[in-house]
Amino acid sequence: MKPLIAGNWKMNGLQAARAEVEALIEKFAGAAPADRDVLICPPATLVAQFAERYSDEGVQIGAQDCHALAGGAHTGDISAEMLADAGAAYVIVGHSERRADHGESDETVRAKAEAALRAGLTPIICVGETREQREAGTAFDVVGAQLKGSLPNGGAPFVVAYEPVWAIGTGLTPSLADIGAMHDFIRSKTPEGARILYGGSVKPENAEEILAINNVNGALVGGASLKADDFHPIIAAAPGEM
Ligand code: PEP
Repeated sequence: MKPLIAGNWKMNGLQAARAEVEALIEKFAGAAPADRDVLICPPATLVAQFAERYSDEGVQIGAQDCHALAGGAHTGDISAEMLADAGAAYVIVGHSERRADHGESDETVRAKAEAALRAGLTPIICVGETREQREAGTAFDVVGAQLKGSLPNGGAPFVVAYEPVWAIGTGLTPSLADIGAMHDFIRSKTPEGARILYGGSVKPENAEEILAINNVNGALVGGASLKADDFHPIIAAAPGEM
């Protein structure tokens, strides 16, 4: 399975951030390697511009959220069709920050994932337990329920990202054994062919060992995707020929 290394820029990035994408492409000596998928999900304001400038250099562009409907009276929202029209190839849905900040339920996340598929985008559907749930021993129940509620019906191509909430932006990561056990569990509940990413404090120092775990098919990277000097070694750490 071709690894996918995806950067989630969250609410970071002004026009000047182009310099980081250009520095990344320069590190690849002109184009991202073909044996791995490289994706950047900048804020919505930069999606069209980045897609137009960088898709030929092998860097795919995605968005961080979409509305479930194709259009209508929803001030401030952006549909999956609009993102596809802007040149996006992927969209993250159900990130824990959106589940927490915007009260998104599994049902909402599934509707958004189905909207992405309808528009020809690949959804990256995020799941993951909180620290309290991990400590209470319910991580597998929580993630199992999120998968049941959030994954689109049918075997359409989508990506799942396992992101323990307590590992996001904290510098903490589960043990390699715990990541492996959760990815094996997700694999058993996910259609064949769907890639399963790990996300949560992936950095140049831990990328290689995480990306080598069975059923880890790539990474969703937040903070370390903002700087080419950090994101490049993570991309390079994915198994392949690079
Ligand atoms: C994320 O928010 O998707 C994420 C993985 O963040 P970080 O890498 O900064 O922990």
